[in-house]
Amino acid sequence: MKHKYIRISGLPISLEQLELDDDTVVTCIPDLGPVQWRRDQLIGEVRFEEKEPNPASSMKISEYGLVDTLSLSFNIYLVQSRAGNILIDAGIGSGKRRPDRPAWDGLSGPFLAILEGLGLSPIDINIVVNTHLHADHVGWNTVIGSDGVWHPTFPSAIYVTSAQELDAMLTIARTASSSSRLLHGAWEDSVKPIIDGPGYMAVQPGEIVGGLQTIALPGHTPGMIGLILRGGSETIVFTADAIHHPLQLSSNVPASIFCKNPEQSVQTRMKLLETCARDSWVIAPYHFPNPTFCRIKGNKAIGFQIEPLGVQ
Ligand SMILES: [Zn+2]
Repeated sequence: MKHKYIRISGLPISLEQLELDDDTVVTCIPDLGPVQWRRDQLIGEVRFEEKEPNPASSMKISEYGLVDTLSLSFNIYLVQSRAGNILIDAGIGSGKRRPDRPAWDGLSGPFLAILEGLGLSPIDINIVVNTHLHADHVGWNTVIGSDGVWHPTFPSAIYVTSAQELDAMLTIARTASSSSRLLHGAWEDSVKPIIDGPGYMAVQPGEIVGGLQTIALPGHTPGMIGLILRGGSETIVFTADAIHHPLQLSSNVPASIFCKNPEQSVQTRMKLLETCARDSWVIAPYHFPNPTFCRIKGNKAIGFQIEPLGVQ
């Protein structure tokens, strides 16, 4: 496996990339970030046991943020393999009105220009997986047309989410007095145009999509899924929002304040970390800032830490 940084011609951007084998490449494309996020507006109160090392002490503060101000990114992953061109999550998007999330309101990032720099037009994307339906994961699902209507950004793609995630959101939408502010507006402009169209597919955890195995990661939302990709001798797991920030390598750090079921979210996170450490999986987290790809070492008893990948 090769871990490297690539430059996109014409853009002042360098992207982290993993080459698993001759046929499988994963590129991390931050749609936004790193941004500074107040810790108490993500994970509330943090208390470390005295015997436990604060995982932040083993990190480079410049990379992951101070303990009270965290660095976060919003990473879209592009998987290119024999199964096609697959996007895992869809960022915040372009031109989306998010009045109650000012940092995301009316953004216009270079995501499509980056894809073009990688040699891909929107029509070349075969699959888009939304790990869950929060506004910061579905933004590039759609773009607005000259008719003022939101259309799928990737007209040839199958858009995938878990059936349970969709059912939970449909229940909320049915009982909401108005759908215009659901998911900060994303329900109307980024989710409904997809699920009402022909290119939508709901899956059950365990199903294989484009060569990626879906896994249930409940807690942050009821139906959130992660994805497992195998290539060469490596396994990469796309962890979605099962872990938001490296501080959460500690079991004493609670779930994010955005998690629907905080207790279940912590259980899911610790189980996932145990598996990743035991089996030496590479993790691809949605919200870690660069460097995003890493391994996890340790165990629950002694605590987990990040093991950086070398760069070639
Ligand atoms: Zn998120």
